[in-house]
Amino acid sequence: MTKTALITGITGQDGSYLAELLMTKGYKVAGMVRRSSTLNFERIDHLQNDIELVAGDLLDEGALIHLLRKVRPDEIYNLAAQSFVQTSFGQPVLTGETTALGVTRLLDAMRVVDPDARFYQASSSEMFGKVVEVPQTEATPFHPRSPYGVAKVYGHWITVNYRESYDLHATSGILFNHESPRRGLEFVTRKISHTVARIKLGLETELRLGDLDPQRDWGFAGDYVEAMWAMLQQDTPEDFVIATGETHSVREFCELAFSHVGLEWTDHVVQDDQFMRPAEVDLLIGDPTKARERLGWKPKTDFASLVRMMVDADLEDVARRHGLDG
Ligand code: NDP
Ligand code: GDP
Repeated sequence: MTKTALITGITGQDGSYLAELLMTKGYKVAGMVRRSSTLNFERIDHLQNDIELVAGDLLDEGALIHLLRKVRPDEIYNLAAQSFVQTSFGQPVLTGETTALGVTRLLDAMRVVDPDARFYQASSSEMFGKVVEVPQTEATPFHPRSPYGVAKVYGHWITVNYRESYDLHATSGILFNHESPRRGLEFVTRKISHTVARIKLGLETELRLGDLDPQRDWGFAGDYVEAMWAMLQQDTPEDFVIATGETHSVREFCELAFSHVGLEWTDHVVQDDQFMRPAEVDLLIGDPTKARERLGWKPKTDFASLVRMMVDADLEDVARRHGLDG
């Protein structure tokens, strides 16, 4: 029997990769999109004939109830969020409404309309924040360092609470940073790969960044959506850390990205205070042992391949947009 999946956040990086994955598995895919005055379907343009787009917003519980009645999903992937840490300092209340309370609205709609569906919550390594142990596992206590991290902690615990209170099949995937050529331009990896491409093609000369010391456990988004699906195929819902188990600094990402196109990063990177954060997360490194043992999941793309993939994709894209030779 064909399964139906509902993805919130389908226009985002992960939503587009997850939709592709579920389609290859024979799912009927519905995606929730919010109204905007200009279309932002760039990441899912190539899928539009094969997926159903339904209107809704995590801020409106009534709309979520109508949407679930219409779609009747077997699996719900809640990927929608205000997902950028720096923006969360400037818009903490909106971040809380969407990234925290939005989870409750969707879980509650599911409890009312479709209690037998399976639910995935996009939790984040930002919940570990000022880390209390290295590496971080499913058992590591949280100490978030931004309104985004705090909102994700709420989203995580309300998912656990609805699972325990109402016996819902609700899972929280604690995913460490994952990137791709579809990553938003404001995130540091894509900002670097995109600017490196522009510098290489002679369109720019400098890359302005904040703190170069923070270390992240960076993986490839295409690998991580496979883990999301695998989590919902478990008979018993449980939470999983998804990570590579390696960590690299922002500086290392710069070095590799520039050297891939034959440039020296120190000739172009300029430190700029406007990209510093009121509180920083210095070090993230996840332990994906449970996911490997229980889901059979492991990352396929290593750090150097990820950096090269992103720079190459941006070189091609920037050259095409500007009619240049890449
Ligand atoms: P993106 O920022 O690329 O996508 C966010 C999505 O959420 C977009 O589709 C956006 O829609 C949608 N959205 C935002 N606000 C609302 C709202 N009020 N109602 C409905 N939809 C809304 O994020 P990613 O794809 O990178 O991440 C997916 C999820 O995983 C997010 O929850 C993120 O916080 C989480 N996560 C991501 C990690 C990563 O490294 N990428 C790591 C750990 C967790 P629109 O296009 O209209 O703006
Ligand atoms: P995050 O881990 O979700 O905050 O992902 P980001 O890609 O936004 O940031 C990763 C790290 O890069 C953080 O420690 C940032 O402080 C650091 N960083 C340094 N310069 C920049 C910058 O110019 N933009 C962004 N987004 N992050 C930067």
